[in-house]
Amino acid sequence: MSILFASTADSAKDWAAALGEYDLPLQLKVWPDMGDPDAVEYAVVAKPPPGLLASLPNLKAILSLWAGVDHITCDPDWPRHIPIYRMVEPGLTLGMVEFVLSQVLNLHLGNYDFLDNARRRVWNNAMRGPYGLEPLVGDRTVGILGLGEMGGNVAKGLVRAGFPVLGWARSRKSIDGVDCLSGPDGFDEILARSEILVNLLPLTPVTENILNAASFAKMRAGAALVNVGRGQHIVDGDLINALDRGHLSRAVLDVFRVEPLPDDHPFWTHPKVTVYPHVGSITRVESGTAALAESIRKLLDGDTPGGLFDPDRGY
Ligand code: NDP
Repeated sequence: MSILFASTADSAKDWAAALGEYDLPLQLKVWPDMGDPDAVEYAVVAKPPPGLLASLPNLKAILSLWAGVDHITCDPDWPRHIPIYRMVEPGLTLGMVEFVLSQVLNLHLGNYDFLDNARRRVWNNAMRGPYGLEPLVGDRTVGILGLGEMGGNVAKGLVRAGFPVLGWARSRKSIDGVDCLSGPDGFDEILARSEILVNLLPLTPVTENILNAASFAKMRAGAALVNVGRGQHIVDGDLINALDRGHLSRAVLDVFRVEPLPDDHPFWTHPKVTVYPHVGSITRVESGTAALAESIRKLLDGDTPGGLFDPDRGY
């Protein structure tokens, strides 16, 4: 019996080699050299080739190398009866906390505007407010959409840094220091109160296009947006419109509908948009492999590992 590593986007060979250190009682195979398809019981995947998972008759579980599973469920032939486990590992989570914290601090301190000014030789030391009245972290409310593994830990990190933090999830959460909201009223409230809004929702039929003209209009005037969820959460034209009108002050975008972001996309050249090439966070080989090994051991023992994807909820 075997574990098949299959990826069109990651170095599956390196992952297989790292998992080899764990002496699991299964052969490790790397697509396309997968041997007998009947022998594959577990598939570890990052953007697997379409149709591959459906062609494995004895597959018992799919383990995602990434936190999201849209790279698996976008395959129209994805076998819906096979459980999918999302990647949940401390390196990936901490990487996201670091990334969002740095973006929120940059926005809070006006760093993107200072850098723009420096490039143009503009000396303006009053951009952050009247001299001596510049806001400190305690004066800046940050909202997080999604309070799961990523959003929940990002919210805790922002609280530790001293920001007033709001969070919104499907169910009402309880996180020390975070004003936790849910439901449509909670959504309107987080939009209205956040000066910096961070999107860490998963992509589902309910969350697709959630950041649109109507939601931007409900956001506080001058607010900034950080999107590290998925590109499909945002209606691109509506965001550009909100920035052009001056209603939103800036968008820091790490994820896009089409990646890499096409050369002619207006985000590249918009003066109020900062583009990152989907680097918010990534699974770390050492801690990610340890998480994979633990999940596979649990599966072999008949237990259920963490991170089980629920196809009905969509995340
Ligand atoms: P989780 O599944 O742990 O958390 C999802 C959160 O979103 C939960 O709090 C959930 O609510 C909430 N949620 C889901 N649907 C809704 C809804 N309809 N209304 C309100 N809240 C909702 O996911 P992760 O935190 O691990 O990851 C989140 C996303 O971050 C990933 O799907 C991926 O898209 C993105 N990501 C991006 C990376 C990057 O590099 N840019 C890296 C890693 C992840 P509840 O708690 O009630 O279930």
